[in-house]
Amino acid sequence: MKVLVLNSGSSSQKSCLYEIGVTLPDDPPDCVWEGKVEWEGDRTEYSIKNNRGGAVRDLAAVASREEAIERLLQTLWRGKLQTISLPSEIDVVGHRVVHGGPHHFEPAFVNAEVKSAIENVSVFAPLHNRAELQGMEIVAKMLGPVPQVAVFDTGFHRTMPLAAATYPGPYEWFEQGIRRYGFHGINHQYCAQRAVQLLRAHPDSSRIVSCHLGNGCSLAAIRDGRSVDTTMGFTPLEGLMMGTRSGSVDPGILTYLLRQKQLSAKQLDDLLNRKSGLLGISGISSDMREILAASRNGSEPEKQSRARLALEMYVHRLQSGIGAMSAVLGGLDVLIFTAGVGENSPEVRAAVCDKLAFLGIRLDETKNAQMLDEDRDIAAPDATVRVLVIRAQEDWMIARECWHLTRMRSTVSS
Ligand code: ADP
Repeated sequence: MKVLVLNSGSSSQKSCLYEIGVTLPDDPPDCVWEGKVEWEGDRTEYSIKNNRGGAVRDLAAVASREEAIERLLQTLWRGKLQTISLPSEIDVVGHRVVHGGPHHFEPAFVNAEVKSAIENVSVFAPLHNRAELQGMEIVAKMLGPVPQVAVFDTGFHRTMPLAAATYPGPYEWFEQGIRRYGFHGINHQYCAQRAVQLLRAHPDSSRIVSCHLGNGCSLAAIRDGRSVDTTMGFTPLEGLMMGTRSGSVDPGILTYLLRQKQLSAKQLDDLLNRKSGLLGISGISSDMREILAASRNGSEPEKQSRARLALEMYVHRLQSGIGAMSAVLGGLDVLIFTAGVGENSPEVRAAVCDKLAFLGIRLDETKNAQMLDEDRDIAAPDATVRVLVIRAQEDWMIARECWHLTRMRSTVSS
């Protein structure tokens, strides 16, 4: 089965093609083709590769987002990286949909009702949901009546108890859909399943805290495979300190800025989403690699102290968040690090784990320092908590959901 996955961002579009046989492999396979297009103004940058060693990087001027995505997808059946003969070879297309709102949690075939539900909650995540709907339109235009599947990033958190999902404002908020949804659910769910597989544990016997640390950062508390709490909330702004997002701040700061500084909602939105976090505090970058480098570089003391503060705050919030999630679980069996920072920064992992020794977390320093491209346990052999590094695999998780739904549908109809 050929499964195409589309993962839309506000200024990028990633896509990959998987070929899956009659059984799902234990380990995530490589994509047979993968491409990414990022745009700024009318300039777009393409990077595309296939599993036969072909790779292309290209800059182009395009008139619209739609045109950029069409060019990207056409490279599947045209040009140097051609991977299939005809678009009709694609059996199913999966989309990551950031927000499913209060009613849509399970992966679903896209139809008019699903599309209108995604549209209805696009006020909650305007940059994402509209981009994802546009992706569905483009696929329908280019590939015709191929089945399309929506996989919701909020879906995994549907099992959170009301006490975790409800904000302590007026009760009407909940009735209006103002509640904790949580995000990164596709990857948190994948990591929880992968942890059970790696540890050969029983799915119903673990208390897991999953730390997704990329440009956006969130924690999930997972008991017996189900999300019971998470740090992101109504929007992906709540919780941990992130690359450019603030994470949680006292809401009184916002009313102060609105009243006393006459900031508009748009200015506040921009401050909190794009000018805060690692970037806002360090004044250097949102990229953890640059923060770590500046925090070691004594030749510019002013920069160094701001970078150190940013790093200490990032670790402090992570430490208190993992503590809170462990308390919700009543203890901790497995801690997972995933996504850009989680997978690649031994320094951040060590800094936070050192502070959590009281929970039974202890790293094997050599294993933590190794830069390996494989999922692994980096805890000391006799530690009571396993610490896993797991590569984020949202696209593979989406492809798997498409495979399951498609097979279920063909079983039902045969
Ligand atoms: P996204 O959330 O956009 O999917 P990623 O999961 O790829 O992003 O994470 C991107 C972040 O990962 C970068 O901003 C960078 O801070 C961080 N990162 C990548 N490699 C390293 C590294 N070797 N050390 C520390 N941080 C890293």
